Amino acid sequence: MADFPTTARVVIIGGGVVGVSTLYHLARAGWTDCVLLEKNELTAGSTWHAAGNCPNFSNSWAVMNMQRYGLEMYRSLGGEVGYPINYHVTGALRLAHSRERMQEFEHVASMARAQGLGMEMCTPAELKEHNPFIELHDLAGGLWDPLDGDIDPAQLTQALAKGAREAGGQIHRFTPATGIDCDGGEWIVHTDKGAIRCEKVVNAAGYYAQRVGEWFRPHGGRRVPAVVMSHQYFLTEEIPELAAWTAEKGHKMPMVRDVDSSYYLRQDKNGLNLGPYERNCKAHWVTPEDPMPEDFSFQLYPDDLDRLEWYIEDAMARMPLLGQSGVGRVINGPIPYAPDGLPMLGPMPGVPNAFEAHSFTFGIAQGGGAGKVMAEWITQGETEWDMWDVDPRRYTAHADHDFTLAKALETYGHEYAMHFPHYAWPAGRDKKLSPLHDRLRDAGGQMGAYNGWERANYFAKPGDDTAEAATQTWDRDGPWAARVREEVVAVRDDVGVLDLPGFSRFALAGPGAAEWLRGRIAGALPKVGRMTLGYFPDSRGRILTEMSILRHAEDDFTLITAAPAQWHDYELLRDALPQEGEISLTDRTDAVSTLILCGPKSRALLAPLAPEADLALPWLSHQEASVEGKPALLARVCFAGELGWEIHAAPEDMPAIYDAIIAGGATPFGMFALNSMRLEKGYRTWKGDLSQEYTLLEAGLDRFMRLDKSEAFPGKDALIAERETGPQRRFVTLVVEGNPQDAPPMATLRLNGDAVGEVTSGGYGYRVDASIALGVVRAEAAVPGTELTVEIYGQSYRAMVQPDAPLWDRENARIRAQEV
Ligand SMILES: Cc1cc2nc3c(=O)[nH]c(=O)nc-3n(C[C@H](O)[C@H](O)[C@H](O)COP(=O)(O)OP(=O)(O)OC[C@H]3O[C@@H](n4cnc5c(N)ncnc54)[C@H](O)[C@@H]3O)c2cc1C
Repeated sequence: MADFPTTARVVIIGGGVVGVSTLYHLARAGWTDCVLLEKNELTAGSTWHAAGNCPNFSNSWAVMNMQRYGLEMYRSLGGEVGYPINYHVTGALRLAHSRERMQEFEHVASMARAQGLGMEMCTPAELKEHNPFIELHDLAGGLWDPLDGDIDPAQLTQALAKGAREAGGQIHRFTPATGIDCDGGEWIVHTDKGAIRCEKVVNAAGYYAQRVGEWFRPHGGRRVPAVVMSHQYFLTEEIPELAAWTAEKGHKMPMVRDVDSSYYLRQDKNGLNLGPYERNCKAHWVTPEDPMPEDFSFQLYPDDLDRLEWYIEDAMARMPLLGQSGVGRVINGPIPYAPDGLPMLGPMPGVPNAFEAHSFTFGIAQGGGAGKVMAEWITQGETEWDMWDVDPRRYTAHADHDFTLAKALETYGHEYAMHFPHYAWPAGRDKKLSPLHDRLRDAGGQMGAYNGWERANYFAKPGDDTAEAATQTWDRDGPWAARVREEVVAVRDDVGVLDLPGFSRFALAGPGAAEWLRGRIAGALPKVGRMTLGYFPDSRGRILTEMSILRHAEDDFTLITAAPAQWHDYELLRDALPQEGEISLTDRTDAVSTLILCGPKSRALLAPLAPEADLALPWLSHQEASVEGKPALLARVCFAGELGWEIHAAPEDMPAIYDAIIAGGATPFGMFALNSMRLEKGYRTWKGDLSQEYTLLEAGLDRFMRLDKSEAFPGKDALIAERETGPQRRFVTLVVEGNPQDAPPMATLRLNGDAVGEVTSGGYGYRVDASIALGVVRAEAAVPGTELTVEIYGQSYRAMVQPDAPLWDRENARIRAQEV
């Protein structure tokens, strides 16, 4: 074919709404030398049969950002590109059956307001005003989003395609990509019309993404963790009453989502569309006996209305109109699910210059924003918003087929579930077990999964209520609270031990390693035998990550980082390493496990177990030592903010060390207690307090920065410029008063009624007996002593800005304690 391209900067595989939106945004960013390949006609995957519902609602700030941006864009897109789109902005109601659901809505509405969206809470009577066809039984109220609605997914995709073509992007339909090769750092994408050599590739193949992903495995890729679920909705025949109402009002009925019953109901022409997320859901193509067909373009699964029976009955009671007409058409189509039901959008794990934009369960609503995000990744290497919630690297090696299937079934069946802070979802568990797992369980450990690693959240005592029902609350207090307090008290007054498997850990060594690392972090390196926190900024001075840097020799380091950051941080380092030279980087996460031993009596407990260790070495030192006869690395640091050590040792040696520590009188404590104590110290957590939404200066990390050092590092110029003008926002520690629920992330902070910032994490400090929130606010609101308010699940509470010092042990005397 004469006009088939042989080169391009970017090749996008897949012409659904997401791939086309990516092409559109690339072209609009001036990247016109980009090609999209579609095996069939555009929209042939999931896009053509989508219901087209377009919510703004999300519990995730990143996803809400994508949806808000996309829906705004859709409202003008048709006019801009000259391709009319049927887009009905009808508004939509979410119904709440319980107080907890109302609280969830309040929180999301508050987040939405911070994004400039006008969501409103409704009483049952107000619900009826918005939609006269609903019955009000079981309802506590609801939420109204005036900008929700439905769009024609095919028209949306075609409009994006028209805009992309006109801006210079190329679309080749009926051109399946058939494989890829890598040659001299460039990709060669094969098709039966020829091969295209390109710099970057995007896997936007929808529910075929796992298959396309297989081509990248020889190049460092992993099996894409997604399964294909069957998702159904049905359309009724015309309902005369609805037709008459629509004719009279001149607009469609607002959509209704009965999230506690798990379905949506909306008007389609003059009938209704009912779409449930059923508990007894079904995955397809997940066994060798039921392989995914080579091509399923524009096809559907057989109708399976039996599965929906309960939901249909419930919906007929909620909106009797539904019973006035028969089922017209059933759509049962494939929809890809990642374990958490969020898309995979970002760099492809393990594979440089390759990206993923697939596994969308709300791809119509999110496609516009996804294209913007993907184009930013490709053209700038970083995104405007922190996109960790959807970053493909959030799932690491534990996300195998069984895990993914179990989680996808759980997630689909609970699509609208509330995610309570003290509940650990049960599917896909026990993927990575500490050698101490049985000991922790025997001691009452209530486990949670952290990047697949099982860690104790707290230790229950016989007779404690550990049932799921007790956790279905946003409240701080529950059966766990007394235990968490006891664990904190043990650490404060005596000695505690926490099993912390799965700390991400990298060995960085070789000539030039120190010089190289100095050029990546904003601060200084520790001396040999010492450790520090290193902050890695992006080009705008925003926080990419934080790592503990332990220096063993001039050019020999251990870097330790959060469990979920394993792949993200490894790739951050790997991608920046010089091609030439002898600096080596090794992931040692599985080779070493960690205990935190801390509390004022930790030194006395450790001394006889580690007789050769020098326990007088100061805070932020580390040493090789043997503990209970086992080789270990002792790091004099403690995230709980007490005298303490991290004990790093081989997993197989941990049982002996742990048993000796327990025999020495330590109380096991869990992640809830650790979180409480780190808040009291103002210690930040990755992707909670430390996100790409903030610069290092905004996050108050000044003392970890050396802007006057001679080495260049990413973001240095931006940070110097920001320091000169002074950061516009500042990190604050707040004490909240009178609140039965601790402040959730993204709770809005106000000064004299004006929104000035948000909470990044919150919890209860049992040593200081106060509810604590960490957050970022406009500089003028950050002055210690300022009285702010914080919106917590719909209630406003006083939140006092604290001095810039830890709430517990302000002088850090306890962590530095030297007497032996
Ligand atoms: C019944 C149902 C209802 C839904 N309702 C909604 C809704 O109301 N709102 C909402 O937001 N979302 C909804 N969705 C989800 C939505 O359909 C998807 O999230 C969205 O369509 C995903 O778009 P995509 O571009 O990622 O994937 P797709 O639309 O599946 O596009 C992927 C494309 O890649 C192509 N492709 C695959 N392999 C190759 C290859 N080797 N070479 C070239 N091309 C290839 C395929 O042919 C396909 O066209 C619904 C889904 C279902 C099943």
